[in-house]
Parts: sequence; structure tokens; C-alpha cells
Amino acid sequence: MAARPMPYLDELNPAQRAAVEALDGPVLMLAGAGTGKTKALTARIVHLLNTGRARPNEILSVTFTNKAAREMKNRVSGLLGQAVEGMPWLGTFHSICVKLLRRHAELVGLKSNFTILDTDDQLRLLKQLVQAAGIDDKRWPARQLAGVIDNWKNRALTPDKIPAADAGAYNHRGAELYAQYQVRLRELNAVDFGDLLLHMVVIFQTHEDVLEQYQRWFRYILVDEYQDTNVAQYMWLRLLAQRHRNICCVGDDDQSIYGWRGAEVGNILRFEKDFPGAHVVRLEQNYRSTPHILAAASSVIRGNANRLGKELWTEAQEGEKLRLIGHWDGEEEARWIGEEIESMQGGTRGMRGFSLDDMAILVRASHQMRAFEDRFLTIGLPYRVIGGPRFYERMEIRDAMAYFRLVVSPSDDLAFERVVNTPKRGLGDKAQQTIQQIARANGVPLLDGAALAVEQGAIKGKGAKALGEFVVNIARWGRMMRGTVAVDSDDVLDDLAQPMASTPEVSHIELAQIILDESGYTEMWQNDKTPEAPGRLENLKELVKALESFENIQGFLEHVSLVMDNDSDDGGAKVSIMTLHAAKGLEFPVVFLPGWEDGLFPSQRSMDESGVKGLEEERRLAYVGITRAEEVCTISFAGNRRVFGQWQSQMPSRFVDELPEEHVEVLTPPGLYGGGYGAAASAGMSGGMTPGMESRVASANVYNSPGWKRLQSRQGDRPVSQPKESRNTVIDLQAVSAYTMGERVFHDKFGYGEIVGIEGDKLEIAFDKAGTKKVVSRYICSADD
Ligand code: ATP
Ligand code: MG
Repeated sequence: MAARPMPYLDELNPAQRAAVEALDGPVLMLAGAGTGKTKALTARIVHLLNTGRARPNEILSVTFTNKAAREMKNRVSGLLGQAVEGMPWLGTFHSICVKLLRRHAELVGLKSNFTILDTDDQLRLLKQLVQAAGIDDKRWPARQLAGVIDNWKNRALTPDKIPAADAGAYNHRGAELYAQYQVRLRELNAVDFGDLLLHMVVIFQTHEDVLEQYQRWFRYILVDEYQDTNVAQYMWLRLLAQRHRNICCVGDDDQSIYGWRGAEVGNILRFEKDFPGAHVVRLEQNYRSTPHILAAASSVIRGNANRLGKELWTEAQEGEKLRLIGHWDGEEEARWIGEEIESMQGGTRGMRGFSLDDMAILVRASHQMRAFEDRFLTIGLPYRVIGGPRFYERMEIRDAMAYFRLVVSPSDDLAFERVVNTPKRGLGDKAQQTIQQIARANGVPLLDGAALAVEQGAIKGKGAKALGEFVVNIARWGRMMRGTVAVDSDDVLDDLAQPMASTPEVSHIELAQIILDESGYTEMWQNDKTPEAPGRLENLKELVKALESFENIQGFLEHVSLVMDNDSDDGGAKVSIMTLHAAKGLEFPVVFLPGWEDGLFPSQRSMDESGVKGLEEERRLAYVGITRAEEVCTISFAGNRRVFGQWQSQMPSRFVDELPEEHVEVLTPPGLYGGGYGAAASAGMSGGMTPGMESRVASANVYNSPGWKRLQSRQGDRPVSQPKESRNTVIDLQAVSAYTMGERVFHDKFGYGEIVGIEGDKLEIAFDKAGTKKVVSRYICSADD
């Protein structure tokens, strides 16, 4: 075939071009962030097609997400100047393996129409096996077994290959239950996620003809984000590449962030051993970020001892320094970022204007998203959450909300169905059907039906007692919410019909906590030993925290239904919110990195671990985060976070200390000036600053200076909480009110009003519409702003 023009090669630097043109034999492209690895990999596909080396369906290329696969396909079409006719083998490991396994399912005892279980199904199945084996699943939760099995599958270990070192797993029953689980999956004609790869590896290992067929077929293999492959994926690749040895892997050891899921950086080092004579390409020019951002990222990652080590450089214009800002608390942080995003749209302080699509907020833990989602919703800032459900769509949040809904409206049957047996109350399908029949026969909601079922003795066994308690509890919480005292606490049906009264016994925040705790829901996750459980508990804490900005649970539920309603994608520009993990490979002109506090980032777990492994993985995440930014990168931390209505003081992340001072600009936090947002500047400008306030403002700046933090960091092991004195100092800053009696102010929820009382940081405000209320000053701003 006559070679077509190759403009795509002109876009590459010599090192990239060498990697693209070395079409035959093994190639390892090992290079830092933003050096054009993905770009070169894409050009390589185009070059393979353009030179006639391979047809689209003879190229196997693995990306880390389906989104990345779609983007790569689009880019290939663009570079080729024509639509690519099918690249069926461009996708994630999972999507490619599903296709392969459907073709060869019978070789591992499955039919080609096998189902793929999700984590919930997987867990249910494991629970049955655990119970059948007579194991106390309170002590040895099925989730823990799921984690053990996933880990084995990631290492391509079938039940007969479990090493002696793992014999103790899951109370010495792990291997045996793993074997039973695999048998059961086969009977059900089902696989779990881990099986997709595991089965294919087994098939390739035991059926040479099948392996050979694909070895011949896939003439060229390309792998992006290679540093995050696990052992099973690695074995699968190696088996397939053995014949042609045309395998090109690109990765960055500094961006290996999936160690917790079984990824092995060692695969990079093993590559040269497994494929002797591999052409190793190093790229050092970064095309993504400004010098300040790049220098900051490089400086942070140098804190890791275990790395191959590489230096990056850029020709980009100097640009903004990396920006660092400390806030009073997490809400203030969200508020500030919201304001900042709005002002950056128009272009501020010499910066160009940015579209919302250009901006991203990258969080360490998904529970951090809640504050941003709420804030953006309040100010009407369009956003999207990438790579996972939005906060209020998470399973544990939906469960908790269902409890709240049921307490607020006992006739909410959907809520009832969701929680009646969560946590498990021994109510199987049959019991639930009985409840439904009774409810239907009496024309009452399910909760009433349940009460009747208990009264009539229609439900037997231990489920009856648990159901009785559940019904009584819902009624009791309802009374607590409405502030009424039951005349006859047994008369559940009457209680359910009680109207609203005005003086609740406990605050709605306490009540929310009581509901989650006394229903056994919190405990269910506390007993759960899977890696996701701590995150779910964090999300629940975050949910309770969210209630604080509302008057009552009803108002909160309304707010959430608005959040959920905000779902539709109108195709307009939106700010992206995602975890650092989900941001891998992506880039944005403007990046916000909030929550850089010890215990949050690095995570408490990584800090508790002995050794540096966990901490180094966290530091790589920091590197991934900073290197997503092209022009403006803003790191922030909060001095306080509220947990269960209690202040918890936070220390700035140790990674903040690792930022090089000469590349960082410390911004002044409005939250530390007392008064509302935006009031600080006007208070200062108008000469309203008292001498005491001045010194406090000065200490606020000290609090945020790298020097201050360095001082703190030298104090050896950092306490999670700050010493009491310093906590008071910070709170004191907040107590300085920048407001005067009679001043007109604005509150997001209550609207305009006039200050009628000042008490430290609390203001009594006569709102035009909402009546007189006490609010914390930082939630309001001057009406003139
Ligand atoms: P990461 O490690 O974060 O995945 P990467 O090494 O894959 O990064 P790319 O995403 O391929 O980097 O490239 C980063 C940016 O630099 C992209 O916007 C890309 O278009 C641009 N780029 C890469 N190489 C060149 C080049 N030779 N000339 C101009 N721009 C380039
Ligand atoms: Mg990339």
C-alpha cells in the first residue's frame, strides 16, 4: 500500500516520533506526566493503520477507562482524517475480556450468555456460602471474604493455586470458600469482575490453540497507564504478546495509584526482563503545565524514595504560581472555590477567562464532593461528577435518606421497601410479601401494613420481633421530630398519624444521628471489613453534616430532591468534580485541589500504616493531582472540619510543606476575617478594622504561611487535633465581627435582612421574609457586596 501523508508525525518531538516509528518489537515508554505518552500511543495506532501494518481489528489497545477508549478512537479518526471502521479491540481490560470470554465461555464451564455480577450480587452470593458454612458473618463478614477473593483474582490465582502464605485468609476458610464460590458461579452461569481476566488467563494457559489464534490475530498490542496493571492483566498481556512481541506499553511509575487494588509497579521493571531488547523511550518535555506547576509537582514527588526518578522540563510561559489557601472550614472552602470559579469565567487578575469546562475540582475522598455539590447547587453553578455516582446517589446515602423519608412521611412505600431489611432483620421475600398483602387488603401504606402484620402475628420467627422494633422506632423518631409525646407508646398506628407540633425534643441533626445509629445502619458498616466501608461511613458523617445548614429534616429532603433533579445534561459547560483517582490521564486549564489536610490527604489509613508504602502512594496521588493542571492550580486546606456537629481541627497536609516556596503564592483566606464572605475587604478598606482585629488578621496570615506550617511540622508527630490554645486563637479570629447593628445583609437561604443583634460570631437578623433568626456570621454577606 502506498504510504499516505503523515502529518501526525510532524506534531511529535523526536523522542515521541522514535517511539511511534519503532513499530516492531517491544517498546516501553516510561515518562512523567504530560509528556505526551497518550498522544504518542494514539499516533502509533494511526501510524500502524496508515502504513498498512495492521487493520483496525488486528490492533489490541488497552486504556484505563471506557471514556479514555472513546477519546482515543475519536483522536485516531481525527488524525487519520477518516472515520475508523471498527476498532473492536480498543477498550479497557474488562471490556476486551468480556468479548473474548463470550467466545470461549465453554472452556471454563460457562455458556456464552453468562451474566456479570455486580458487587451487590457477588456479596449476596458470598453471604449465602458463609452462612451455609456455619460461619458467624458478624465476626467474619462476607465482605472481607469478597476482598480476599478479589485480591487472589487480581493475582491470577485460581482456588487450587492459593499459596501457603495465604492459608490463614478469612479465618483459614478463605481458599475453601473461594473454591465453593467459583463452583456456585458456574452453576449460575455467572462471573464477577475479577473472573473476566482470570478465566481468560486460564483459557490461554490451558488451550494453546486458542492462545495461538489470538497471538496471531493481535499483531500489535498497545497499553496506556501501564503502571496500574495488576498481575492478572500483566500475565494476560504477556501471553498474548509472546508471538509477535509487538507490544508497546506506556506509563509513569510516579503515577501508580492503584496499589490498593492489586496493581504492581513492578510490572514496569519486569517488562525489560520479559521482553529482552525492548526499546525504552524516555520523554522529558512536558507540554501540559506551566513551569511553576511542573516545579511544584516535581518537588512533591521527590519526597518518594522508591521511584525510578526522572526530570521534566517545559518551554511553556511562566504563568501563575501555584496558589495555596487555607480556609476556616470545609464549607468556606467550597464557598470560596465557587466564587473563584465564577470570577475566573470572566478572567481576573490578569488571567484569561475560562469556560466552566476548563475547570475541575479533584478530591481525595468522594465524601468531599458533597460540600461542593451543595454549594454549586445553591449558587446555580453547573457541575458534573465524573467517574462515580454523585454524592446523593451513593448506596449508603440513599439508604440513610430512605430512613429520613420514612420518618418524615410514614406512607413513603419506596423508602419502606428500601430499608425494612437493611440492615438485615431476617425479613425474607415471603415476609415482605405478607406485609404487602396486608397493606393492600387494608388500603394502608406498607409501614402500617407492617404494624398490622406484627399485631396479627402474620409474620413468624425472629423477623417478627425485629419488624416490630422497626415499626416502633420509626414512629418514635417521628414523635421526636414532631416534638409530641406519645400518650400510649404501644399504639403505633396512632403515632404514625400524629400531626406536626412545634417543639422538637432533639435537634434534627441529633435526630438524624439517632436514626442512623439506633436503626443499626451505622453498625452495619462498622462491622463491614471491606475497603469501601470506611468511605461509606465517612459519607454518612458527611450526610449528617450536610443537615446542619438546614432548619429541619424536611427542608433537607427537599433540597436533595432538587439536587437529584439537577441531573439532566443540557450540553452546557460545566465544572467537573471527581476523585484524584478518576482524574488520571486527564488535563484541565484550571484545577482546584481542596482538602489538603493530614488525615484526609494523606489519608488517615496511609498515615497509620507502618512503613512508607501507603504514604508514597498518597504522594503519587498528589503528583497526579498537580500535574492535571495546565495553567492555574489551587491547593487548599481547611483549619476545621465539622464531624457530627463537633469542630475538629485539621492540620495542613504534610504535602503542603513539601511545596517549594518559590513556586507558590499564598492567598489570603476571606474566611479568617470574621464577618461574611467578601466583608473582609470592605471592612479593611473602609477603615473599620480595630487594632485588635489587625493583629488577628496578621496572625491569620501567619497561620497560612508556609513558614508557620513548617514550624508546626517540626514539632514531630502531628496530633490530629491542634492544641487547644491554637484552636482558640483561630476561633477568636472568627469572632471578630465586621458587621454593625442595623446593617443590611444577605443570606443564601433566608434572603435579605437587617442585623438586630451581634453576639460574637453570631448575628441576630430580622429577615424580610424568613423572620428573625440567629445565624453564624460567615454564612451571610453584606447586602452591598
Ligand atoms: P499523563 O501521564 O498525565 O497521562 P501523557 O504523558 O499521556 O500524560 P498526553 O496527555 O499525551 O500526556 O499529553 C499532554 C498534553 O501535551 C496534551 O495536551 C497533548 O496534546 C500535548 N502534547 C503532547 N506532545 C506534544 C507535542 N509534541 N507537541 C505539542 N503538544 C504535545
Ligand atoms: Mg496519558
